Amino acid sequence: HVKARGKDGYRFFSESMSIDSVHRLNLERDLRLALERNELKVFYQPQVCSTTNRVVGLEALVRWQHPERGLLYPRDFLPLAEETRLISQVSEHVMDQACKDVGQWIREGNPDLRLAVNLSPVQVEHPRFVETLMQRVTAHGFPAKNLEIEITENVIMNDLEQISQKLRELATLGVRIAIDDFGTGYSSLNYLHRLPIHTLKVDQSFVKAIRGGEDGACIVNAIVAMAHGLKLEIVAEGVETDEQLEYLRSLGCHQVQGFFYGPARPANEISQTLCNPNAEAVSF
Ligand code: C2E
Ligand code: MG
Ligand code: MG
Ligand code: MG
Repeated sequence: HVKARGKDGYRFFSESMSIDSVHRLNLERDLRLALERNELKVFYQPQVCSTTNRVVGLEALVRWQHPERGLLYPRDFLPLAEETRLISQVSEHVMDQACKDVGQWIREGNPDLRLAVNLSPVQVEHPRFVETLMQRVTAHGFPAKNLEIEITENVIMNDLEQISQKLRELATLGVRIAIDDFGTGYSSLNYLHRLPIHTLKVDQSFVKAIRGGEDGACIVNAIVAMAHGLKLEIVAEGVETDEQLEYLRSLGCHQVQGFFYGPARPANEISQTLCNPNAEAVSF
């Protein structure tokens, strides 16, 4: 997204703004109906420990099972949801469903299983963000220590003072904080040791650049080295090949996530694998 300051704060501009207004109105109406009809689904992508091959976390990724258009991805409807503020209902839905699903798997014998959820800038900038988030988490009896929120550098840089206050509150409650798409935003590295951050997620573009340890890998090398120095956990996104996995493992990247282990899947498919305590992530 490219952001610009509007008179009522930040607005998000994306391709959906150039599609004709009839289409947009239809989409907005459909999205409202989708919320009522429970067509929004939460899929989960495993985050795998690079040394043990075990699933340590699940990232919740929203999908829209559209009655006519089939399975829609976040890029197809989240920009519109953000413009129309429907995003808060979408987020509530994702949070509720994810706390239910992952909460159950935690109770069923995966006490350390982590739930990673993506938060939209609109959500985080809301004055009562921490309160609203924690209300949902506690309503489901979901353990705060098993929750990791994913935000981007841009969200932090928008309003460093406000955000740091909120993140400190969350960290005090035991919630973990991850920086998503690390290295792709407009940011300063200064915030890294000023904020209670637990995890850096290396953006897929840097993982793609790994090819036999050539120059392409130098950004991944630098990010992992920095994370080690700052004692941050590191998750590599978009791992698709054995070569990327081996390289990341050799660097000491703690966790990997990507099509190599599998795409995001519906809850019923994930629970089958989690039920088997000896199953390695490879069986995804
Ligand atoms: P993200 O958080 O960076 O999520 C990673 C995206 O990469 C996901 O796309 C995932 O399906 C995709 N991916 C995973 N492994 C691979 C791989 O090996 N190769 C490739 N090429 N792609 C891979 P998805 O699900 O389409 O989500 C896109 C973005 O939408 C997410 O980026 C996240 O920023 C946002 N998003 C998804 N769900 C939610 C949500 O519930 N709330 C909010 N606010 N944002 C969400
Ligand atoms: Mg994410
Ligand atoms: Mg990402
Ligand atoms: Mg992304």
